[in-house]
Amino acid sequence: MARLMIVGAGGVGNVVAHKAAVQEEFSEILLASRTIEKCDHIAKRIGSKKLQTATLDADDINNTIKLLKEFRPDILINVALPYQDLVLMDACLEVGVNYLDTANYEPPDLAKFEYSWQWKYHDRYKEAGLTAILGCGFDPGVTGVFTAYALKHHFDEIHYLDIVDCNAGNHGQAFATNFNPEINIREITQVGRYYENGEWIEVPPLSIHRPIPYPEIGEKESYLLYHEELESLVKHIPTLKRARFWMTFSQSYITHLQVLENLGLTRIDPVDYEGTKIVPLKFLKTLLPEPSSLAANYTGQTSIGCHIRGLKNGKNRNYYIYNNCDHSKAYQEVGGQAISYTTGVPAVIGALMVVNGIWKKPGVFNVEQCDPDPFMELLGSLGLPWYEIIDRPSPFEEN
Ligand code: NDP
Repeated sequence: MARLMIVGAGGVGNVVAHKAAVQEEFSEILLASRTIEKCDHIAKRIGSKKLQTATLDADDINNTIKLLKEFRPDILINVALPYQDLVLMDACLEVGVNYLDTANYEPPDLAKFEYSWQWKYHDRYKEAGLTAILGCGFDPGVTGVFTAYALKHHFDEIHYLDIVDCNAGNHGQAFATNFNPEINIREITQVGRYYENGEWIEVPPLSIHRPIPYPEIGEKESYLLYHEELESLVKHIPTLKRARFWMTFSQSYITHLQVLENLGLTRIDPVDYEGTKIVPLKFLKTLLPEPSSLAANYTGQTSIGCHIRGLKNGKNRNYYIYNNCDHSKAYQEVGGQAISYTTGVPAVIGALMVVNGIWKKPGVFNVEQCDPDPFMELLGSLGLPWYEIIDRPSPFEEN
């Protein structure tokens, strides 16, 4: 039996709390976040005796350490924002708590996300005998587990990886983001980047796009983006010749985004407004719908997967592995939409892997460095069934 602390009571925190509360491995759960009302609202909806709540500003290391010492969790799931990653990793080291997150660290004043800051903790976690699992949502997260599973069971060498992420849902709003608006817009407006033949190639934001077919959905225009799992997968699977990430956006979404950018509303540097410094993107966030508020009226599904090509027994192999998740089914089950659901479920499975001892090794790891099989065994039963298509023509055959 293990004690779990969840930090962050947004869309993903809600799913993590719901799913963790029904796992017998967790005896006590503390949901802590900046706004206690959000924690209490989630706890009331779940109605589990295991679950308690607390206020926490995770930018404040002393208060974070104090709360960790009081509750003494075995593992902390960080589903606050990427800005809090380092404080939470430091606090876990100080108190002796295992750590797991779903997004890599970003400095608030620099639209740059990479694993370097968190990978530097490896030796300290190793010496402390603690485990930190990085990027254990869906993408990053399941996409890394899918790739590791493909390598273990279907390939001798992986050469080409295309991660494809489609949201074919409709929430009825003119413009909204599916997870934290600030983090989401920073991700999409940055320069596009992919890996080819040992180099990172940069292209203007959203400048490369093509229609890609998604199971049960059909073709959707998909845009090449830089996504953080590319960095760790290229490092851990050195036979990769090319790795790319694609995400669907509607024309209306892109037009809204372009207008917001042209107006300067996606800027992350402070500007003077009547004598007060404000960051335009943070102001924009206050105007946009909260991702969790989209859930009630969301219809349609998401489809995320990995198209992989490489060699098996000296022959070329095409392989596709994916999950589709239905927004309204997620809402019926946990009161959240599919983006939050597909992030929260893997985070809970990752935490179970650590507290059960299966992924418990000292150091800081990305998911593809861990055994994919026990994780994949739980994925379907916890709500994210997955499917494989082997040796059929790939939409990426030509390029
Ligand atoms: P939300 O904005 O809905 O929730 C974030 C929560 O974190 C809010 O409850 C917020 O509190 C809380 N928070 C923010 N700052 C602090 C702080 N300093 N101390 C304590 N709590 C804080 O975001 P989501 O739930 O949509 O996303 C959560 C995380 O999941 C993000 O890091 C996101 O990048 C990641 N993610 C990962 C995905 C993946 O597949 N790997 C996909 C989608 C999301 P308050 O309510 O007071 O603002």
